Amino acid sequence: MVPVWEYLFDFTEKMTILYLKKGREASLKRRHPWVFSGALDRLPRISTPGETVDIVSQNGTFLARGAVSPKSQITVRVWTFDPEEPVDAVFFRKRLASAIGRRTLLRSSLSTTAMRLVNAESDGMPGLIVDQYGDFLVMQCLATGAEFWKETIAAELGRLVPCRGIFERSDASVRAKEGLEAVKRVIAGEPPPDVVPFEENGLSFLADIVNGHKTGFYLDQRENRRHLLRYAEGAEVLNCFAYTGGFGLYALHGGAGRVTNVESSGPALDLLERHLDINGFDRQRVENVRADVFETLRTYGDRKREFDLIVLDPPKFVESRAHLTRAARGYKDISLLAFRLLRSGGVLVTFSCSGLMDPALFQKIVADAALDAGRTAAIIARLGQAGDHPVALAFPEGAYLKGLVCQVK
Ligand code: SAH
Repeated sequence: MVPVWEYLFDFTEKMTILYLKKGREASLKRRHPWVFSGALDRLPRISTPGETVDIVSQNGTFLARGAVSPKSQITVRVWTFDPEEPVDAVFFRKRLASAIGRRTLLRSSLSTTAMRLVNAESDGMPGLIVDQYGDFLVMQCLATGAEFWKETIAAELGRLVPCRGIFERSDASVRAKEGLEAVKRVIAGEPPPDVVPFEENGLSFLADIVNGHKTGFYLDQRENRRHLLRYAEGAEVLNCFAYTGGFGLYALHGGAGRVTNVESSGPALDLLERHLDINGFDRQRVENVRADVFETLRTYGDRKREFDLIVLDPPKFVESRAHLTRAARGYKDISLLAFRLLRSGGVLVTFSCSGLMDPALFQKIVADAALDAGRTAAIIARLGQAGDHPVALAFPEGAYLKGLVCQVK
């Protein structure tokens, strides 16, 4: 008969073990954190999505420990490659502290009170985003593992980062692929006010962390907004897909003569107006247009309007590989229309935030756009995501934002 204590011991130590198919170890050995369903020998019978499982090779050698997501193509996301490291509250305490610690260097070189503290896979915590806006944190769980551990994560975060409250913005559409529903709620501390104020490079901003896009603001564009300053002095600027005005406000700050912001969302434009007020910018220098960018660019072309600096920061056109062709057309259309509106010597700053859009293909699309617009242009800078959105070398998929700064002849 098995003594009771042994039974209990065995029970608590029980961990589901998943076997990889033969010859499928390479990506885990390169520390890539995803295991696709096709790489598994048998699909797991899992009672709780997000529970911790061990991945072993055919001969039983430990490869990784991660969270299982039975409904997703990405069946396991790896928490650790160390067989001795359990996944528990201490694990998250260490990982969170290390992600926050890593940003100390960055913090000292930046002037901002808003920053991404955890960038998912690239910070060793797949599916978890944590952004700080002043006194508030916003947490986003995009995969079952982060969802499973979210109360623990919120508790550890609250201990590590002094803040008034943590708001959960788990309402991104990718959650559907994991079989997860949208969740928006206070997970710890106080509910956030309508807008949370923060400062960035001498400008004041307000983030609507409850209803705004992403977690409230496009923190990933911080460095690129600053980059824009070098082209802004005296320029007539067209800021397309303006959201709450990030690029436009920097252009004004950098001495632009006039800024036209084009954006389809009413609430975003309302915040843009408030941003103009709190920063004390002269309204005479600004025109805010609530309209579709594609149509507006065409209309401006017909009216022969001209600009010195144009920013194109569209939403993600590529949600899946199936959309790649349509997305390519979208990027080409806006770039082509924008090239036509530039004065000689003018600058186009054009972005793609779709991870599935390869940088080489994006460059080709922009080159085709210039050609069809009859413009000769050259790349004078290449832009990417800010340093608080790192890309782990083992996880190249983490690089999604790319921008080209092109000057026309
Ligand atoms: N440049 C912004 C972020 C842009 S996100 C910043 O740095 O803060 C993309 C924005 O484009 C969103 O605000 C969305 O509402 C807007 N948008 C999407 N499609 C649009 C369209 N066809 N015309 C105008 N705006 C659009």
